[in-house]
Amino acid sequence: MTTFTAALTLAQALIRIPSPSGAEGPIVSYIQRVMHELGYDEVHVDELGSITASIYGNRPGLSLLLDSHIDTVEVANRGQWSVDPYGALIIDGSLYGRGAADMKGAAASMIASVARFKEIHGNDFAGSVHVSCTVCEECFEGYAAALVAAHTKADVVIIGEASELDLKRGQRGRAEIVLTTYGQSCHSSSPQRGSNAIVAMDKILGRILALPTPSCPILGAGILVPTDIISRPYPGRSVVPDRTTVTFDRRLLVGESRESVLQPIKAVIEEEGIEASVSFQESEMESYTKATIKAERFFDAWVLDDEAPLVQLGLDALHKQASERSSPTIASAPTPATTLGPWAYLPSALAPGPRRWPTPPMSESRSQTLSVRMTATSP
Ligand SMILES: [Zn+2]
Repeated sequence: MTTFTAALTLAQALIRIPSPSGAEGPIVSYIQRVMHELGYDEVHVDELGSITASIYGNRPGLSLLLDSHIDTVEVANRGQWSVDPYGALIIDGSLYGRGAADMKGAAASMIASVARFKEIHGNDFAGSVHVSCTVCEECFEGYAAALVAAHTKADVVIIGEASELDLKRGQRGRAEIVLTTYGQSCHSSSPQRGSNAIVAMDKILGRILALPTPSCPILGAGILVPTDIISRPYPGRSVVPDRTTVTFDRRLLVGESRESVLQPIKAVIEEEGIEASVSFQESEMESYTKATIKAERFFDAWVLDDEAPLVQLGLDALHKQASERSSPTIASAPTPATTLGPWAYLPSALAPGPRRWPTPPMSESRSQTLSVRMTATSP
């Protein structure tokens, strides 16, 4: 069996095991069995439930991590699928199914490719190679991958996220900011008896939206966009609200910190003398192993130099596998690399990334396909 056939068969098997975030137990058990059968030196499941297989060379060298996540979002709109989302059908050279592109295809390819490398070279190489299949990525991008990177002491991380077979060498960061103004509730027929939190928000919101944000020629603009606004009580029938909250999506550039992002907003609040608080959104979830993930929604930006040896090595590998070529580009969709930061780069050189990232409008099943032709020449 060729490595390509092995990877494709494994990708189909992975798609057939539903693995929504927080319920990856069954697929991890399956992958654990496969990794052992393929002869990896070590297979490790960490406290969150992510699984990593490793091979170790007989000489000192870099630790290389090939990362993928094996959780997916749920199938909420089954009616929009023209095929069974867990059927893993191949139609006209495309593999269909939930997670085919994001990113069970890459996971299968990485598992099969490194096993093949071990088969050919044994342990006669420098350094170590690790293949991780992480959990809970769709809710906390990069959180589980960062634990694996620390555990494997990774010097280099390659992430198999969809990249149109381009090498991605950087990405804007992202933060979710929560701004709340406070007032005092009263009957809205006598508003002078209380203090309206919406009026307080109105005094500062325009100024905050007008704050200058940085921009950079590589990553673009560091934008600030309000994504929701809600007052309490809601609905506020005949009640002056005592609380109004706005959530902002803030895209970050390299060099921005938690402090530098919040400070200008705090300055506006102070200058206007408004009772308000601002912080980063925090969220929490439980992994299938019952471990708690709790983190602020703040993910650093990162960029690797065009000429960096790793970028050049990635490009060389990509040239050998794909006929179409372009220079390294910047990732736009959120990926685990937002948390891994400067460790990471994002090629599809070693993984069969889908030919394109789905852009709406597109049927649900079409957006979950993986071209299976691109890597048909792999050994
Ligand atoms: Zn993904």
